[in-house]
Amino acid sequence: MKNIKGQNSARKFLENSVKTGRIANSYLFTGPSGVGKLFSAKRFLMAILCKEDMDIAGTCAVCSRVEKKIHPDILWVTPEKNKNIKIDEIRALKDRLSLKPFESVINAAIIEDAHMLRRESSNALLKILEEPPEGTIFILITNKKETLLPTIISRCIEVKFHPLPIDDAKNIIIHEAGVFVASEMAEFLAHFAEGSPGRAIEILKSEVLSRRGEILGMVEQMAPDEKYFYAGWKHESKDDIIEDVEIFIMYLRDIAIAKEGMIKYVVDKSIVDSLWYKMFERYSIDKIYMIIERLVALKKAVEGNINPKLAAQILPRELSGC
Ligand SMILES: [Zn+2]
Repeated sequence: MKNIKGQNSARKFLENSVKTGRIANSYLFTGPSGVGKLFSAKRFLMAILCKEDMDIAGTCAVCSRVEKKIHPDILWVTPEKNKNIKIDEIRALKDRLSLKPFESVINAAIIEDAHMLRRESSNALLKILEEPPEGTIFILITNKKETLLPTIISRCIEVKFHPLPIDDAKNIIIHEAGVFVASEMAEFLAHFAEGSPGRAIEILKSEVLSRRGEILGMVEQMAPDEKYFYAGWKHESKDDIIEDVEIFIMYLRDIAIAKEGMIKYVVDKSIVDSLWYKMFERYSIDKIYMIIERLVALKKAVEGNINPKLAAQILPRELSGC
């Protein structure tokens, strides 16, 4: 389990449970996405099932099947993106858990994105958690604990995961991305994803990075003539606007830091040579921070209920600080 990086309290807690043999029936792994909850759940099960020493667990045939999610005694409930967990899946889980393990001494059930349980499936799961079949370990994983039924939360031992320190996140990005990532880019991504290497790697594989160039271009077009600020933003879908606003926030932070002369803390140093920088250079630091605050509020509103098209209308005005 020493491979669990940057999550010392969670790692120590899980290690200790294995060492002392005090393993609970149900765990709830909480914290932001992409910071190692799934990774740690697998390592925890490896440490329980594997015959190797706990520190080197992860290399044998048993561990490899845990890693690939094909171990016969570990059942996975993995909802598709934004899809609810169906009650049939929980019923199937219950049926399988009533059988003895095939090859180890325990059965385990991992429920990913447990916040995708709706009322019916939550209640079905709750019944199983209340009377768990002997020798069964449940691990519920979520980044939205607040949306789970309180009765489910109270049945579980919570293991909290946190955003990683930038250096840890950066190292994980470099080693786990599966493609070459230069050190500066890894650092940029670690900041941009707010200490979540999983999210950073997702961004790396998505189109956000090429969008970054596009967005800077769009803003630079506005620069000579402020009337463009009132024309509305080009992107109008919820996800697009959230990503655009995140990029703006990061760049404005960089501009504010550069203006304060702390250039070594700037994430993307190319910003200083950009038209963007010139455009915001005439603003006071206070005004830039005010714009950042307004963008943070706008992002929250878009994540909540505000109509994305309305947000697209507001965004340029918020950027102009008017
Ligand atoms: Zn092993």
